Amino acid sequence: MNYHIAVIPGDGIGPEIVREACKVLDKVGEVFGHQFSYEEVLMGGCSIDAHGVPLTDEALETAKKSDSVLLGAVGGDVGNSRWYDVAPNLRPEAGLLAIRKGLHLFANIRPAYLYRELADACPLKKEIIGDGFDMVIMRELTGGLYFGERHTEIVDGLRTAVDTLTYNEEEIRRIAVKAFDIAMKRRKSVISVDKANVLDSSRLWRKVVEEVAKDYPEVELRHMLVDNCAMQLVMNPGQFDVILTENMFGDILSDEASMITGSIGMLSSASMNESKFGLYEPSHGSAPDIAGKDIANPIATILSAAMMLRYSFDLDREADAVEKAVQQVLTEGFRTNDIYSEGCTRVGCAAMGDCIAERICG
Ligand code: NAD
Repeated sequence: MNYHIAVIPGDGIGPEIVREACKVLDKVGEVFGHQFSYEEVLMGGCSIDAHGVPLTDEALETAKKSDSVLLGAVGGDVGNSRWYDVAPNLRPEAGLLAIRKGLHLFANIRPAYLYRELADACPLKKEIIGDGFDMVIMRELTGGLYFGERHTEIVDGLRTAVDTLTYNEEEIRRIAVKAFDIAMKRRKSVISVDKANVLDSSRLWRKVVEEVAKDYPEVELRHMLVDNCAMQLVMNPGQFDVILTENMFGDILSDEASMITGSIGMLSSASMNESKFGLYEPSHGSAPDIAGKDIANPIATILSAAMMLRYSFDLDREADAVEKAVQQVLTEGFRTNDIYSEGCTRVGCAAMGDCIAERICG
């Protein structure tokens, strides 16, 4: 099969890490008989330099016409870059919001997986880590409190701010379907997180999720209140497979889940629309402090490419091969600077990409 991928290297370490992900995809293509073609798209600071805006209409069109998008990261040193001397809608990160909106990406998927080899970086006690954890957080990305009506006014002489949390059943249904679809590719368990003891939006959320669950009899569904979920993540993370939740709860819980893995350079993410189209990117930023030094960890971006294979192209065997290669490289002791520990072999960004690509097998 041929797959056409829009590639957005972005700024900082973006070009370095995306190069390694493409290297790994090319090896997957070689081993499994696929063709990946790439079309580069400018976004972020590099687009500001070239076109005066963080994302042009043409760049968005190129992304729309592709089968999928692979993104490095955008942005510079916020306190020290000319990219930030302009209005917020012209700054590098505005490109991110524009592309997410333009591609209708409403489902954010963030895995949090603890590699046994990196368990020392996990801030949890060994008895809590147990056999490790492997979860995915499915966060609704375009509704809820962050997109509701808001205003600030004086009421009875007091400054008063109002934000509204709105979800309709359609918005809940489509994200729930994504969560159950992904659970079917994993351990077939969904924990839906809400605040149904207080919020109307959560009570509707629960009802609609239960309706969707009827179409997935193999998947076990549990509900959990968000405050309990925040505790359970640090008390018993191994219980979670797919966590399904709304925008703000997902924002907070996904950061908590990534913290307990202990290594930001390892965390992939995907944002998807109603079809199988997705934008795949590492969870970290553009790390301007280490850009151009060949010391960035490309694994989060490589694992994001694996998510693309699995969720956009339905290439599960190929995605497994990438994830296994990453696991093997860690087991053999190769480490970039950020995850280095004594006794391991320190490698740079490009060498880490080579190590992983070499271990891809069918
Ligand atoms: P960051 O994630 O870029 O960096 C935080 C720390 O983690 C830094 O010390 C960095 O060196 C390190 N780090 C991050 N990724 C790494 C990797 N792959 N390998 C090794 N070390 C890594 O966060 P920040 O410093 O807050 O932000 C830097 C820039 O990135 C800002 O302009 C911010 O707006 C932008 N940003 C972009 C995205 C995105 O494009 N999706 C997301 C977050 C931040």
